Amino acid sequence: MTALETTSVGSLPKPDYLVRARAQTARGKMKAAALRRLEQRATAEWLAFQEEIGIDVLVDGEQYRGDMATYFAENLDGMEVSGLVRSYGNRYYKKPIITGELRRAGPISVGWFKFAQGRTRKPVKGMITGPYTMMDWSFDEHYGSREEAALAFAALLHQEARDLEAAGAKVIQVDEPALATRADELPLVVKAVGIVTKGLDAKTVLHTCYGNYEEIYGYFNRLPVDQLDLEMSNSSLDLMERFRRDPLKKEIAFGVLDVHSHVVETRAQVAERIERALAIFDPQKLVIDPDCGLKTRTVDEAKAKLEVMVQAVRVVREEHGFA
Ligand SMILES: [Zn+2]
Repeated sequence: MTALETTSVGSLPKPDYLVRARAQTARGKMKAAALRRLEQRATAEWLAFQEEIGIDVLVDGEQYRGDMATYFAENLDGMEVSGLVRSYGNRYYKKPIITGELRRAGPISVGWFKFAQGRTRKPVKGMITGPYTMMDWSFDEHYGSREEAALAFAALLHQEARDLEAAGAKVIQVDEPALATRADELPLVVKAVGIVTKGLDAKTVLHTCYGNYEEIYGYFNRLPVDQLDLEMSNSSLDLMERFRRDPLKKEIAFGVLDVHSHVVETRAQVAERIERALAIFDPQKLVIDPDCGLKTRTVDEAKAKLEVMVQAVRVVREEHGFA
């Protein structure tokens, strides 16, 4: 790996023309094929942008996904998706429901992976919503046990990972935003993710969103992946001290962009965050990326943040004499 390799976590914002097209399709005013062409256009534009600014490992930007769990749920047998359910505040989302035995009717994300990888010589990540998160975010009417449901997801997501690998994916990321929600279920996360990643040759990454990292720290080295991707832009010094005392035995993707803030970081700010990471981690095992998916930012904000990130990495690479 190059020192301070750069990547993105997954989602990127949808351009206005795609947001409008999705609304039109939902109202029956646009055909699915026309929507798909616009999703392809947006995906191609995001790939071109990432190449242009010099990101090393690309993402397809998930322009064809609404919600990460719903997208997989819609493509699995044994699942239905509810109407809009109110979550906190005025946010509405569709809840996946497990109604029968879970099966994969066919590849889910492989077609989009091939489309994206076919447009660039740089590696594009294969992206899987993890088995624990799929279980945690779904309403279960069939299994009656959180463990059984998670392991059923794990078995079919392993097939998906195999298919991504066969299609040429060199890096496969498992998204587990729900990982830190229940510390007592971390052994289940380890078991389920292990089923997904078992025997893969591709580099495996686990992304998790912000949680009480200090509480779950003991599990970091037990997660059966090659790379752990964490939100670190606002990390505490205590956590950094913990990494120093109890070294991570795998690569880390270190988030340096606050994805919840409209404010675009300065190059100096990001460089300082990278330096903080370099004080602890081996640069060959240190990947630099945003904290999380950027889909909640505007297209302009996301682009500006990613550009600052790549520029900051260049500055730091030069200062340290990394090739
Ligand atoms: Zn995240």
